[in-house]
Amino acid sequence: MQLQQHVRLSRRSALKLSVGMLALAGQGILRPAPGMAQDSAPAAPVIYSGGPILTMAGPEPAYVEALVVIDGKIALAGTMDEALKLRTTDTRLVDLQGRTLLPGFIDGHGHMIYFGKNMIDADLVGVTDIAEIVARMEVQADRMGPDDWIVGFGYRVPSLTQNRHPTTAELDQISPDRPVMVVDGSGHNGAANTALLRLLGLDQDTPDPEGGSFGRNSDGTLSGPLEETALFFVREQRPGFTGKLADDVALNGSRIWASYGQTTAQESGVGLGKDDIDIIRNAIDKQLLPIDLYLCAKDSLVSDALAAAYATSSEYTANATGAVEKLLAVRPDLDDRYINRVRLGGIKLWLDGSVPTTWMSEMYEHNPPDKEGEYSGFGQVSDEFVNGFFDKYWTSNLQINMHMNGDAAAEQALRAIERAIEMQGMADHRPVFIHNTYMRPDQIERAAKVGAFPTYTTGSLPLGGDSAIYYWGRDRVDASMPMNTLEKAGIRFSLNHDAPILPLPDVMAIVDAAVNRTTESGIVVGPDERASPYLALRAVTAYAAYQIKEEATKGTLEVGKLADLVILESNPLTVDPVTIKDIKVLETIKEGRTVFLRE
Ligand SMILES: [Zn+2]
Repeated sequence: MQLQQHVRLSRRSALKLSVGMLALAGQGILRPAPGMAQDSAPAAPVIYSGGPILTMAGPEPAYVEALVVIDGKIALAGTMDEALKLRTTDTRLVDLQGRTLLPGFIDGHGHMIYFGKNMIDADLVGVTDIAEIVARMEVQADRMGPDDWIVGFGYRVPSLTQNRHPTTAELDQISPDRPVMVVDGSGHNGAANTALLRLLGLDQDTPDPEGGSFGRNSDGTLSGPLEETALFFVREQRPGFTGKLADDVALNGSRIWASYGQTTAQESGVGLGKDDIDIIRNAIDKQLLPIDLYLCAKDSLVSDALAAAYATSSEYTANATGAVEKLLAVRPDLDDRYINRVRLGGIKLWLDGSVPTTWMSEMYEHNPPDKEGEYSGFGQVSDEFVNGFFDKYWTSNLQINMHMNGDAAAEQALRAIERAIEMQGMADHRPVFIHNTYMRPDQIERAAKVGAFPTYTTGSLPLGGDSAIYYWGRDRVDASMPMNTLEKAGIRFSLNHDAPILPLPDVMAIVDAAVNRTTESGIVVGPDERASPYLALRAVTAYAAYQIKEEATKGTLEVGKLADLVILESNPLTVDPVTIKDIKVLETIKEGRTVFLRE
């Protein structure tokens, strides 16, 4: 029950975070991102003991008494006696005091850069008066450089005492000569100040665009409000983030990811924003990232189809083509190893939509309001289009990651993979089925055979499960994300939050959702497919490492692997399963260094 559609409607809304939220989400401190000097100097050896140390290696939970970390790698996972034999004068002994130590979490699918961008703007969620908007935006104006747009996001007109959007005159109080834009919680409406309208050459002679309008005074002059396509037009003119703003995107995003225990993040939509490549390049050049970042890029091939299928220009600036080529031009080795914590791991394409636009083989139970007659959703791209990717990438280092929610979309993916195998032979490609919410039982066997790897957005059950039940009917939702069936069939899968599609990159929340499978109204869907807490944890550690082909170095606490670790306040295997989402991450450690510490 992926929420893409909701989000496309309000992508920058519910999901929009602010700097204020950073404190809320993190409630901790982040150590300075490692610069080159720190990277080359080994961290002091550490022995962890005194709490459950869950290795995540093997099908049953296994604990060790002590974990030794030397030079950023796991030197021993065993008994305290063995650990003490490796102790040197500079070894630090860490007493877990009953807290649980696990391998660092690995993001199965998310948008760290996009999330970081959202955090740049002012948070207007919850404001009740236009004066409050102005006050928050004045703070934002101080934070931004003199040439930057001053942007705020998230107010709701019905919550404002004025019950309307702000006017140019009101926004001019924030700045009479710098561009100011506010966007409401739906992401579809907003307002601009006089300087911004002037900057873009918009005035009383500007006609309303199709599908939208400019607010006007009685004499026809523009009054500030921007509706739908008028807002999208204005938003598209915003300059990309550069300089300190580009730094902040990478730093904010990686800090939030680390605060939820993740030592490997994803940006699975590189190239959708016009400034993505420069932001990533900046992060590489300045060595900004404290954790690893796996990228999935939009290949040039996708651009036109994507823009047509998704009208992405209304959400992203879709003029960035060839993200793969551009990244590889920066660093030709980016596709087979981490360069300053960044690796280009995959290609991203989109096969269908979200709950009301999921491509199914059978009709919906209820149509979306604008659809009549027999409706089963629809595909976004042709078989030829998908095949083109497999022709190009099947035997390459780059994994094909496909957004899909329905069984007809899964069928298109399976057709393409089976064809690739027929033409090019089997490869260890591990094509990723992103969301893969509903797949028929007969498809699961085929998925296993071709080595497909599902990553489930389990957090969409508590946040969108009821809506999926309404559209698709209970049976298909019950059969969605069949984690136990997959485990029995030997298919590994991961969990993902797709943040900012789900509002936070909160790993314990998606583990909880996998274990409880409960919708917002309290329906437990497919109770037989509720994952055990251990299986759900495997899906965010060992299995997720396998997904990105990094199982040799990540995902379990075994000798020789990276010391990517997370310390939780309690053990998810022993708490009441409905409280898993409340377990706090206390510390996140990347290759032996603390990158997040809750205070
Ligand atoms: Zn996504």
